[in-house]
Amino acid sequence: MKIQRAEIYPLSIPLIEPIKMSREIIADAKTVLLCLTDEQGRQGWGEASVAPLMTGETLDSLVGSIKYLVEKSLGLDWGNPDNFSDIFNRILYSNASAKACLEMALLDLYTQSASVPLWRYLRGENTVLDEAIPTPIPLLRMLGGSLEKELSDARAMRELGFRHWKIKIGLLPLEQDLHRVKVLCELLDGDTVSVDANCALNLADAIRFCESEEAARLSFAEQLIPADLPMGDFIKLKKRSAIPIGLDESIHGIEELERFIEADAFSGASLKLIKTGGLIPALECAKLLKRNKLALNLACKVAETSLSAAAMASLGFAAGDVAWGFSMSNQYLQFDICDEPLLAINGHVEAAQLAHSGVGITPNINRVKEVIAKGYSTIQC
Ligand SMILES: [Mg+2]
Repeated sequence: MKIQRAEIYPLSIPLIEPIKMSREIIADAKTVLLCLTDEQGRQGWGEASVAPLMTGETLDSLVGSIKYLVEKSLGLDWGNPDNFSDIFNRILYSNASAKACLEMALLDLYTQSASVPLWRYLRGENTVLDEAIPTPIPLLRMLGGSLEKELSDARAMRELGFRHWKIKIGLLPLEQDLHRVKVLCELLDGDTVSVDANCALNLADAIRFCESEEAARLSFAEQLIPADLPMGDFIKLKKRSAIPIGLDESIHGIEELERFIEADAFSGASLKLIKTGGLIPALECAKLLKRNKLALNLACKVAETSLSAAAMASLGFAAGDVAWGFSMSNQYLQFDICDEPLLAINGHVEAAQLAHSGVGITPNINRVKEVIAKGYSTIQC
């Protein structure tokens, strides 16, 4: 399989409402789409989003590294996905997000040519699972804004079938966050409710939070402390915490997972394709978590389109058990890039929604061109 040509689309898509995190406010999704055309004229699509605080990527750097990788990829043989990662690493050091974007587009082409949905191809790699139809993946909804708004959003979304929740904390004083958590946990009793501090707490506050009665009903607390703190702090937090500890910014790939497993310093992790460098390495991470009885959360960066959503859902169907839910972030976009966006069904995404071969989402090129980021244009390779 050879790539004949490629187009790179740097996009900026407004969110329905801004999402506030402890260290940033996101009002629009900065994401990059890649379209590859093979020698048969088939088109394969990939996506990766910027994440300055998680991967260090900005729109300029991401577009630059995707362009570099793609230009070097023209004319190479891409017939065996098992070799993708080695070939990427021979072209470019690090740059996981750009590799994830190219890998998604190549796997879209490969699975289209094999006439198989991407999730089924990935699942084939996971010999632990039987051939039954995968169970639907529970979608996780983020809550934000005033407590009144969070309560009314939670009630409305619960009516639609959502049972997995994430409360962003770290912007307010600890006592106020604890109060929000207590009130929301009471409303959402029986559901999987989590918090995410995006590194905002110091160790003392994180321990206080995890030992408090108000937080006792949480299913997990994600990345309370900064990723650059010493391992000893993570071990201490896990030992003192009454609730399971999740990690996100601390985990980029298999080596970090192995270090934290060795230290017994967490209870589960959030995987994103922009961190792992693609679906195949992410599936290895998911299997490692499962072997060690650690929980899995899947997440798109806030926010990515239906394309990344479908790729990540495919990983979920292949991994088999997404106990901490899937944060499918296209649900926060004002505008999606395809005619039929991937939507929640009773708070879940189902394998039947991705029945076509390939990733299962084909962007509408006219819609893509409507949201090219200001000051940027399509790049042809
Ligand atoms: Mg997170």
